[in-house]
Amino acid sequence: MAAFCRGRHRWKRNTYFQIITRNLTGKFDYDLVVIGGGSGGLACSKEAAQLGQKVAVLDYVEPSVKGSKWGLGGTCVNVGCIPKKLMHQTALLGSAVEDAKKYGWQIPGPVSHDWSTMAEAVQNYIRSLNWGHRVQLQDKKVKYLNLKGRLVDDHTVSGLTRAGKETILTARNIVIATGGRPKYPTHVPGAVEHGMTSDDIFWLNESPGKTLVVGASYVALECAGFLTGLGLDTTVLVRSIALRGFDQQMAGLVTDHMRDHGTTFCWRSVPRRVERLGSGELQVTWTDTGTGQDQVDTFQSVLWAVGRAPETRALGLEGLGVRLNQDTGKILVAADEATSVPGLYAVGDICQGRPELTPTAIRAGRLLARRLAGQTAQLMNYDNVATTVFTPLEYGCVGLSEEEAESKHGKDSIEVYHAFYKPLEFTVAEKDASQCYIKVVCERGGDQKILGMHITGPNAGEVTQGFSMGFQWGATYRQLVETVGIHPTCAEELTKLNISKRSGLDATVTGC
Ligand code: FAD
Ligand code: NDP
Repeated sequence: MAAFCRGRHRWKRNTYFQIITRNLTGKFDYDLVVIGGGSGGLACSKEAAQLGQKVAVLDYVEPSVKGSKWGLGGTCVNVGCIPKKLMHQTALLGSAVEDAKKYGWQIPGPVSHDWSTMAEAVQNYIRSLNWGHRVQLQDKKVKYLNLKGRLVDDHTVSGLTRAGKETILTARNIVIATGGRPKYPTHVPGAVEHGMTSDDIFWLNESPGKTLVVGASYVALECAGFLTGLGLDTTVLVRSIALRGFDQQMAGLVTDHMRDHGTTFCWRSVPRRVERLGSGELQVTWTDTGTGQDQVDTFQSVLWAVGRAPETRALGLEGLGVRLNQDTGKILVAADEATSVPGLYAVGDICQGRPELTPTAIRAGRLLARRLAGQTAQLMNYDNVATTVFTPLEYGCVGLSEEEAESKHGKDSIEVYHAFYKPLEFTVAEKDASQCYIKVVCERGGDQKILGMHITGPNAGEVTQGFSMGFQWGATYRQLVETVGIHPTCAEELTKLNISKRSGLDATVTGC
């Protein structure tokens, strides 16, 4: 208690003197202090330093409930895009080995996968990225502090070490880029005690074994996809629909493909409880809301992928009057990323209404740094950001879904061109291509401006990235089909689209 009081006294005195000094001299320790060293925070701090600003970035990882922890770089590097894509790639390689046999490769004996080898390789790569970020900050003269940041006032940040030692920093501008963390359904008995989240799965050194994945959005389907691809018995509990917010015909193709390749789906199902049995296995009870019946099965692991919560808890925003969205708890920001408190900005997942994607956090962070340094007035354009769901059959898209286009423009004012195509690599491998599909939603009149593009298939992320440039600049259906394709590719199928849904003609691509 005495130590606490002494600590508190010291905190108050130091803070007080620094704030007084700042008020008297108008001088700050830094031009910019960024709280959060993930995609948005690192991009913002590095850009600001390159523009001659004096910058500090605080990054601090609170271990997960299960005790997983990691280094500098935020969600994407440590528990998101990077390990996810590498595990997706691991699963694809497994299926490529099977294809290889059809192409004449002599592979003796059954092929099996070793989780520990994969985990070690992935984790080593992540550590190299953590190190790379530290080196880059040093090279660019950004002061990196492994401290947990809290706002004292609109120009003052308190940073705490794990041991509780405090550093006070003052800054002309402060950027909050603390991202989010996975949620647990705390109303489900046993959920926290026995379950894990995406903060843990990539750091497991041993295979999770038979796994129940709860949720049906990006994280759930991507994780369930690679777990199945690695040969694990995987079940997905879907409360309502898959991939809410995405084109539902495309979402159906994604889940059909997963089902055909071994993932079990329990639709309209809500989890009730998780219990550990004497055998060590987890017994999960859920209700099929269609029939009202309870279902029970046992698993070795339960992965909650039920959404993410903004990481605002430690920031002390309430006292400062920073306005938050009442439902999500995310920070309300203007088009220039300004919060309701002057001098205080926010970028990335922590902001209300922004896509939760790494490239948007990075670009928003960079543009904010440039604006704060007086280099530009350019705002981040959050419209028409392309994205890809890295399920075993990837789904890439940009723009409106068919449903959104219908409700925005009216069914009679849009034309949907589509094709079921067969990737060449599927032919010799005798792979089923039923779910390889392309849909381009256009205005019906005039130049037929493209409203949305959707593709499921191998490397859909790569294909979508290229076409998203044309889309961003207002491409029309005519421009699309006047583009000469690259043969033989999946991407060329987009340039060959000529069947409209309205025509009712068979959309299966035949021949070249
Ligand atoms: P983050 O990257 O989360 O960084 C926030 C940082 O702030 C963290 O390091 C955190 O520990 C730290 N922090 C929090 N509070 C404090 C504090 N008080 N003091 C100091 N530091 C603090 N996006 C894609 O574009 N493509 C993908 O393929 C993709 N895959 C994903 C897969 C998964 C499983 C998940 C969970 C996400 C994925 N995302 C993907 C989303 C992407 O990771 C996020 O949108 C992105 O990381 C957001 O960046 P950010 O800077 O807002 O926050
Ligand atoms: P989402 O919020 O997008 O989805 C949450 C899912 O969990 C929904 O399917 C929801 O169902 C379900 N759910 C919520 N609560 C419960 C509950 N109590 N019981 C059962 N199911 C429940 O979260 P994610 O974590 O999947 O993704 C977060 C963000 O991260 C994404 O929006 C995306 O921007 C980003 N991301 C990007 C990736 C990429 O670019 N490839 C990959 C992964 C993440 P319902 O629909 O019924 O509400």
